[in-house]
Amino acid sequence: MNTGSPRSVAQLVRGMPTADGAGVKLTRLIGQPNLPDLDPFLMLDEFGTDNPGDYIAGFPDHPHRGFETVTYMLDGRMRHRDNHGHEGVLAPGGVQWMTAGRGIVHSEMPEQQSGRMRGFQLWINLPARDKMTAPKYQEFETQNIPQVDAQGVRVKVIAGTVAGLSGPIAQPATDPTYLDIELSAGHAFSHALPAGHAAFVYVYEGEARIGEGEAAATARAHELAVLTDGSAIRLEGRADTPTRAILVAGRPLREPVAKYGPFVMNTREELRQAFEDFQNGRF
Ligand code: FE
Repeated sequence: MNTGSPRSVAQLVRGMPTADGAGVKLTRLIGQPNLPDLDPFLMLDEFGTDNPGDYIAGFPDHPHRGFETVTYMLDGRMRHRDNHGHEGVLAPGGVQWMTAGRGIVHSEMPEQQSGRMRGFQLWINLPARDKMTAPKYQEFETQNIPQVDAQGVRVKVIAGTVAGLSGPIAQPATDPTYLDIELSAGHAFSHALPAGHAAFVYVYEGEARIGEGEAAATARAHELAVLTDGSAIRLEGRADTPTRAILVAGRPLREPVAKYGPFVMNTREELRQAFEDFQNGRF
């Protein structure tokens, strides 16, 4: 393990345009041929459009079992409703961290007819011991997510700790970091990350120089940088324009993965059981 050292960029990935749900247009960053997975991260989608035709059909009822979905909204509103009676609206700056566990069936539908819809959905795997846990939600509105403001750098701390402020999300299995970072022109941000954790930076506005010295590489807007191992990461924005990026990290599970669509288990037999349970209304 490469401890005590700065991380740099192992791979730069551009997203793949795709459609999911009832025809929502989105960009898949993790879970596509250029980056099939990044243990414990199974999938990352960015949705971002001003055209209601790209999102209005939403994600009608569909199941999940065996992992967590994390939805972070930048713009727009999404209504969530599941088969256990849980319902709510995700507003700009809000996060929903859903532990699907043994199974939920839910819908995720836009709560607006016009305007911009923008955000991310990340899928994080659960270890074998937690795959059949009871479903649970950690939901926070923007005002309940700590924000660090310092010298041209603004960081929203969804998970992890920055300058002594800890994000509200708890998940001991993968010990996640999830930061939304805004760099004013010409500013930089450095952050300690646990060595051994898988980590990536996704730049969604502007451009960032990632890493230090000769090992640094540039990620342009809409590029995802998979990070090398190490204990810290530095991002520097461009001198002439602001930059916005998410920094996400988590402890790899290193377990066998058997997945099909919305079911992510350890074995084919558990996958077969997931289908059977879903078809028999046991979610
Ligand atoms: Fe879903």
